[in-house]
Amino acid sequence: MTATKWEAVIGLECHVQLATETKAFSASASIYGAPPNSCTDPTVLGLPGALPVVNRRQIELALTLGLATGSTLRRRSRFSRKHYFYPDLPKGYQISQFDEPLCEHGTVEFVVDGVPRSVRLTRIHLEEDAGKNLHRAKRSLVDLNRAGVPLVEIVSEPELRSAEEAGEYMRTLRQLVRWLGISDGNMEEGSLRCDANVSLRPVGATTLGTKAELKNINSFKFVERAIEHEIARQTAILDAGGRVVQESRLWDADAGTSHAMRSKEEAHDYRYLPDPDLPPLVIDEEWIDRARAALPELPTARRQRLVAEYGLTVADARVLTEERALADWFEAAARAHGDGKRVSNWVQSELLRELNRDARTIDACPIRPEALAALLRLIDDGTISGKIAKEVFTKMYASGDAPGVIVEREGLVQVTDTSAIETAARAAIDANPKQAEQYRAGKTQMIGFFVGQVMKATGGKANPAAVNEVLARLLGA
Ligand code: ADP
Ligand code: MG
Repeated sequence: MTATKWEAVIGLECHVQLATETKAFSASASIYGAPPNSCTDPTVLGLPGALPVVNRRQIELALTLGLATGSTLRRRSRFSRKHYFYPDLPKGYQISQFDEPLCEHGTVEFVVDGVPRSVRLTRIHLEEDAGKNLHRAKRSLVDLNRAGVPLVEIVSEPELRSAEEAGEYMRTLRQLVRWLGISDGNMEEGSLRCDANVSLRPVGATTLGTKAELKNINSFKFVERAIEHEIARQTAILDAGGRVVQESRLWDADAGTSHAMRSKEEAHDYRYLPDPDLPPLVIDEEWIDRARAALPELPTARRQRLVAEYGLTVADARVLTEERALADWFEAAARAHGDGKRVSNWVQSELLRELNRDARTIDACPIRPEALAALLRLIDDGTISGKIAKEVFTKMYASGDAPGVIVEREGLVQVTDTSAIETAARAAIDANPKQAEQYRAGKTQMIGFFVGQVMKATGGKANPAAVNEVLARLLGA
């Protein structure tokens, strides 16, 4: 008997917190990290008589995502009540969209190991977040600050095939929502989290196997590990002739394993029904047109343009489009200087190194794009060497000063004046007669020693080409 080979089938449900100032259905502030229960109001608390009012901003943000993923936008969608009992849900139901979601049939494109992949989205719908239960040693507490925060839930078709693909898909989603400015995508703060649905089927099969759902994963590393672990778990069950049970499982990152939460039999019956407090959500064409007009150039298009316009490699363009603000910074510098490839090299080596060192984002960068262009021009016109320029760059980053100011203040102007170089060269030769003798006896690589001496004497500011030329002349004599 040959062992069955299994194929993994994965579908992700990702929750993204929308970057609104107030909650989905009330004017309560939405501030992460505020004192417990300070971001609440009668609607959030579910007090009798309090009525929800749709926050317009969340609709705009969801429309932006819908357009960016090429989704079909439902002109008339509906909010429903999803009922369950939990202390962090004071109303006893969550307002969500059920049978009439705002967006359907979008796609997300990404690259795995250099191969382009595309995954279809079943739907993107709006819903409100629940609060948080905090379990302490002897008591449990409820913080309702997160209750009523607007979310979009992005549901993918079961088209992912490996843990790595799922991780890349999620990274792409995070980049996209940040790029669009609709969410900070902060996974530590729970702004982006997902449920991963995993099943196996024999390779070549076309029907789906029974899935298990891994709940509430909030890091790329965990999504990959949890899925790998789940694939291994189901493989062991199926190889032993068993059956996978349809259930929700909780990933325990510390233990590196998952455990069952509830099976299909215990699954909630949410008793969805249209929320009678909220009218149908009607989106007119003008609103869609406005959202479309405000859409930024998307990451994939931007990457392609950077390659075409500035002669960058695809890898360069990937790094520079990690964040929209970084791409903007790069383009401003590239336009100010003219040589995009060189600017790209400086951004990727010098700038990103400095930013990474003190964990700053490009928005907090002390160097203006024009200042990098000015620095490169100082190299172009021979005022400073490339080596000195790197020093100047570090000082620009530390002080925010313009490169010209630093070069002047610190006397870093390159010495091209041959008489000064000649004086230093003569001194070096006179002080090192043995080395000069060796050079003259045919050991011409000794010139490197003298170049080093002259550079030391001139504080690294001598033009290397001029130094070489002068030394060769004097030593040859
Ligand atoms: P549920 O009703 O259990 O939430 P859905 O059919 O709504 O299930 O799908 C939820 C998510 O699970 C979607 O992302 C979908 O792609 C994925 N999914 C559905 N069936 C499977 C399966 N057999 N294997 C893997 N993923 C699946
Ligand atoms: Mg589900």
